[in-house]
Amino acid sequence: MATNRTFTMLKPDAIENNYTGKIIDMIIGAGFKIKAMKYTQLTEAQAKEFYAVHSERPFYGELVEYMCSGPIVAAILEKDNAVEDFRTLIGATDPAEAAAGTIRAAYAESKGRNACHGSDSDENAEIEGMFHFAANEIF
Ligand code: UDP
Ligand code: MG
Repeated sequence: MATNRTFTMLKPDAIENNYTGKIIDMIIGAGFKIKAMKYTQLTEAQAKEFYAVHSERPFYGELVEYMCSGPIVAAILEKDNAVEDFRTLIGATDPAEAAAGTIRAAYAESKGRNACHGSDSDENAEIEGMFHFAANEIF
């Protein structure tokens, strides 16, 4: 996957709260092209694997339980400087600290239930994209 791509998940709280369309509209409005998209639900094993990097953190169990508690939208996005620009678009992890105009400021409930995932590096964008999509599902 090229370095102009990032990976996102609209998290279960965003889907539950019916923000799916509003968030996708913000993403497209910010100049990202959708290369792959899937409405799906993570199994506990998939959520554990996806967030394995956080397995020693105190919130890991709660995070895994929440991330497989309902459907998500997973997507691969393309734009120049995708990883950094998407992190700017989603805002800080804790919505109380997220800048005005960001997805998390507008739609996140809390630091845990924070509406949207964004990859933190080109390397992780590739790993996370391949975790969710086969090569023939990316356009
Ligand atoms: N998280 C949490 N409590 C914390 C920190 C993180 O529940 O104190 C959750 C939250 O859903 C966050 C995810 O774990 O999005 C991954 O944490 P990370 O630090 O990677 O934040 P992000 O990259 O999503 O901003
Ligand atoms: Mg992260």
